[in-house]
Amino acid sequence: MVISKDEINQVVKKYDKNKITICTIGSHSALHVFRGAYDEGFRRCAICAKGREVPYQRYKSAEEFIMVDKFSDVNDEKIQQQLRDMNAVIVPHGSFVAYVGLDRIENDFLVPMIGNRNILRWEAERDRVTKLFEAANIRKPMKINGPDKIDRACMVKFPGARGGRGYFVTDSPAGFDEKMKLMINKGWLTEEDRAKAHIEEYVAGDIYCMHYFYSPLTKTVELLGMDRRHEANIDGLVRIPAKDQIEAGLQPTYVVTGNFPIVARESLLDQAFGMGDRLAEVAEKMVPPGLLGAFCIQTMCTDNLEFVAFEISARQDGGTNTFMNGSPYSYLLYGDGMSMGRRYSREVKNALAADRLEDILT
Ligand code: ADP
Repeated sequence: MVISKDEINQVVKKYDKNKITICTIGSHSALHVFRGAYDEGFRRCAICAKGREVPYQRYKSAEEFIMVDKFSDVNDEKIQQQLRDMNAVIVPHGSFVAYVGLDRIENDFLVPMIGNRNILRWEAERDRVTKLFEAANIRKPMKINGPDKIDRACMVKFPGARGGRGYFVTDSPAGFDEKMKLMINKGWLTEEDRAKAHIEEYVAGDIYCMHYFYSPLTKTVELLGMDRRHEANIDGLVRIPAKDQIEAGLQPTYVVTGNFPIVARESLLDQAFGMGDRLAEVAEKMVPPGLLGAFCIQTMCTDNLEFVAFEISARQDGGTNTFMNGSPYSYLLYGDGMSMGRRYSREVKNALAADRLEDILT
């Protein structure tokens, strides 16, 4: 049974509002969530998997540590109770979603989280992301309906969190077959993957990942930062001269290994705000209560100076790690030191002051 808003409200009602604890699992973008909670004066609890606690201990991330054998153990009733007893507000991030699992977040994990637990599934399913982009009038890569329809440079993707392994670029049906065979021989794809291939136009451009925060309290979308990602091995491959690339016969992969901050041309900001505003607006109607808290639109900017969006994160994205102490954009709104993690804690503080904590939690 899906956890209802009413059930969460019942939990929140029993909370001691003077003793809220900001909590997440120790992975992904937890460091600035905890630092931000500290800066805003909250208690902090880190849930750490044994063997992965070092950064959170060394950076003194939390007063309280819950150690688990594996992250999915946070679903154990005992741990859930422990979290509710400390008046925990969970900040969900990419690893939280991946390790705890969508089904469990939707059905079993009865601890209030800041954000919309029901929209997390939407970012994971390409058809649903497409629906959101279409409703929000956000340009996305054109979909090609099958390998035999390939008539231009295409990016071929496969479902599941593979970090881009097995993705390839081709420009013809014969090229598709050839690369498919190559990937199968490498053991990166199987024959069954052929039917699951998602083929879209290759967008020649430059990556911009836009990090927004939507506050239901002010009904405003804030653009707090932007990043690009470092991807192995594509970012290393392009340092080899073309001739050597051909000789080496290496296949590109798109596994994110890190991020770096970026600012866009100022004249592009109108577009960035438009995309964020429209996505938040349609999400509120399509998946109520919408995109509460952090979300990210991952785009390519073309030489026509147009953003083409290829993915979203419906929660805090890892690229927010590029502004643990603020970005040029968060500086414009908040002055020094506003990370995405801190913005979450600021939202909790504002909601407490307005006696509206229920409005930001699901
Ligand atoms: P994953 O979900 O596995 O991370 P993405 O959809 O984010 O995969 O794509 C991985 C990378 O591939 C992107 O960061 C970008 O570099 C590149 N990419 C994705 N879609 C396109 C596209 N349509 N055209 C050009 N490059 C793309």
